[in-house]
This record gives sequence, structure tokens and C-alpha cells, in this order.
Amino acid sequence: MIYNISIASSYIILLILISKLNPMKKSKFLINVWDLLLSAWKRDQIIFEKETLDALENLWPDGINGKILIQSFDENSLLTTLEDLNCTMVEPCDKCTTIYHREILIPEYQAKFQKKIDPKEESDDETYLIDKNENIDIQSMILSAIKLEEPFSKKCPKCQENESDDFEDEEEDFGSFGWSNIQFR
Ligand SMILES: [Zn+2]
Repeated sequence: MIYNISIASSYIILLILISKLNPMKKSKFLINVWDLLLSAWKRDQIIFEKETLDALENLWPDGINGKILIQSFDENSLLTTLEDLNCTMVEPCDKCTTIYHREILIPEYQAKFQKKIDPKEESDDETYLIDKNENIDIQSMILSAIKLEEPFSKKCPKCQENESDDFEDEEEDFGSFGWSNIQFR
């Protein structure tokens, strides 16, 4: 009997753990903006916590946290600003393959959303489409903000430390190479 109870209780604990890891909620990253597009300079702000993105497989369960500010330019376009976006990636180090945590903090990142994007119109700004139901999906925007933070090679704190030591050694070597051998004419 005791055995059965312990199995049942561990089963319940397991269920609670699974439900915490996979919250069945709608993504906050799909935002309806019809009310903002009614006129210019309308604003809205959305705070998001522990959101997940399917494209980010290595995301730590703390998820993506931050704030979205949306401001309309007119009936067809708006500016979206991500503020204090933070998340942690759990990834293998490129050098020693140890799994390590890489914290990401993005103070500000902006993109435009428009009902129509003219392919001929050249723009340096990042621009996405507002769909026919007047929704914006900011997942791609968040992804590019996070990708932008990605280092050229991902190194764990230990390898980073070793690398900076090597760099100091190199500098010393360079110093001992001796400028006295070079003659200026
Ligand atoms: Zn490493």
C-alpha cells in the first residue's frame, strides 16, 4: 500500500513538473494591433515573462522576458521596440564542448511593421508585415535580436578566461620581439 502511494505521489509530482515546463498558453508574441492602427501615435506596452520560442531549442526554462512597446505611425505602419529583453541559452562550448549558460540582455531593439512592403523601396530598417487580421508576429524580430548577440564562436567562461591569458602572453611576446631591430630611414 505504501508502495502504491509513493508511486501515485511521484506520478503527481511528475505531472506538475511537466505542466510547469510546458505551460499551455497562447504565445504573447502574436499581437493584435487593430486598435493601434486607428490613428497615428497610439501606443501600447506589453510585458512578457517566461515566453518560449520554438526556434530557440537551447533556451533555458526561465524563457524570454522583457517589454514590447508598440507605437503607430499611421493606419498602415507601426514601430515596435523591444526593451530589456533577457534570456539564457544553454549551449556547448565550441572549444571544449562543455555545456554552459550564456546570458543575453538586449536593452533596446527596434523594427517596423507595415501592412504592405514595397520590394523596390530600399530601407535599412528591419521591416515585417502586419497580417490581414491586423496581427503582428514579433517572433522573427525577437529571433534576429537574439541572433545578433550570438558571438562568432561560443566559448564557456573557462575557455574565455584561458583565451584572454593567451592574448596577454602574445602581447608580451610581441613586446620582446624588439623594436630595436627595426631601423627607420
Ligand atoms: Zn570551453
